Amino acid sequence: MTQRVLVAAELKNLLDSAELAGLDVTWISSEQPTPKGDFVAVVPLLSRWIGGTELKHLPNLRIVANVAVGYNNVDVVAAEMRKVVVTNTPGVLTDATADLTWALILATTRRLVEGVDLVRTGKWTGWHPEQLLGLELRGRTLGLFGAGRIGQAVGRRSPGFGLRILYTARSAKSEFETETGAIRVEQSRLLRESDILSLHVPASPETKGVINAESLARMKPGAILINTARGDLVREEALAEALESSHLGAAGLDVYTEEPAIHPRLLAAPRTVLLPHIGSATEETRRKMATIAIANVQSVLAGRPPLTPVY
Ligand code: NAP
Repeated sequence: MTQRVLVAAELKNLLDSAELAGLDVTWISSEQPTPKGDFVAVVPLLSRWIGGTELKHLPNLRIVANVAVGYNNVDVVAAEMRKVVVTNTPGVLTDATADLTWALILATTRRLVEGVDLVRTGKWTGWHPEQLLGLELRGRTLGLFGAGRIGQAVGRRSPGFGLRILYTARSAKSEFETETGAIRVEQSRLLRESDILSLHVPASPETKGVINAESLARMKPGAILINTARGDLVREEALAEALESSHLGAAGLDVYTEEPAIHPRLLAAPRTVLLPHIGSATEETRRKMATIAIANVQSVLAGRPPLTPVY
């Protein structure tokens, strides 16, 4: 018997027909509201909110298979109350996102965007000993705000650059500490001592706006903020102000509070590298994310446990 499922249309090219066997798929594009009906599964992108209303309109729903590791676009409490399984795609995007975090660290510390602009606008007049001087990484401190899969992967990439690592997490990571020499510290010390502060906690009520005017003021003058986690962690206007006043050295961002909109002041702020939420955007990773999401659907609809449940 085929089962009616809703799947984000943007995943079509990343899935093959064998993976979709037995499913009666209705493809929904990002612009479309979530349909109502007797669908038993929904596979949304992170831009689609699945909350109480959507769940009410899908009375036969058994699973929300989110195509991301973050699941702040799903009302997990409402889903759990209705006994709807929620799954995510952990692990497969760790390396891709850690690599992109490093792309932002290098782009901000070595002023890549300013350099590219100089060349492209024809304003480059030749080598100059004081041109676009950046931040030397060796001996500096990398602060990881969150050291789960991605935070640790970012840390594991750093020894070659000679950085000292500080991190915060709810629990200590002894293997990570042994491997990298990382030290677990309180948030206040992380803010005070990091030359580069990189965010890797999920968006949740506890982490919302954790980088605000007050926490930014506690950061080292000239420090660099990197965010490849979620836009909700950062108060964008406060960040813009910290860049305008030159308190912060630079910001490298992949995620924003109201994607795809970016706070106009942040968009205009100096010394930023702004990317369009491409942390996991490699061919291999995006295929694996789509595959895991559908495998979760197949598993739950066959009466088996989900592969990667979030609760
Ligand atoms: P993870 O393995 O679950 O790691 C999360 C880390 O945050 C853990 O160290 C955890 O501490 C810590 N944490 C969680 N809640 C916290 C809180 N309330 N206060 C302080 N620390 C807290 O997740 P991950 O796979 O590394 O992914 C991290 C986030 O990256 C995702 O949630 C997602 O939003 C984002 N992401 C973005 C992209 C992108 O395209 N830019 C791609 C992938 C992921 P414990 O370890 O002690 O529990």
